[in-house]
Amino acid sequence: MRTKSTKELFPSIHGRLKVIHFIPNFRITQFLTGHGNFKAYLKRFDLPRTDLYSCSSGEIQDVNHLILSCSKFTPAKCLLISTLKKNNFAWPPSFSTLVQNKTCFESFCEFIDSIFPHIL
Ligand SMILES: [Zn+2]
Repeated sequence: MRTKSTKELFPSIHGRLKVIHFIPNFRITQFLTGHGNFKAYLKRFDLPRTDLYSCSSGEIQDVNHLILSCSKFTPAKCLLISTLKKNNFAWPPSFSTLVQNKTCFESFCEFIDSIFPHIL
């Protein structure tokens, strides 16, 4: 799983127009692009001194860590995994799956909203 460009998420304008549930917001846009309140990103500008996360995993705090492996967010992640499995999607999903399937996108938004206040 890695962050995507808009063109990778929506290869065509026609395809984008069909995904009417996808309304990007401040938080979702940061997670899809990787450009946001993440230490791995902010370190480029020398804002934090380290890109390691405070969860003591020793891992760099980036989008992949937060979504896939951070133990801080295991309960919230379990809800997202459960929604994906109910809809026959594997874990970890592609960003395209998270965005293009309405149920998965809603669950992904809930996950992001629940972890966002705690990521820095
Ligand atoms: Zn972590």
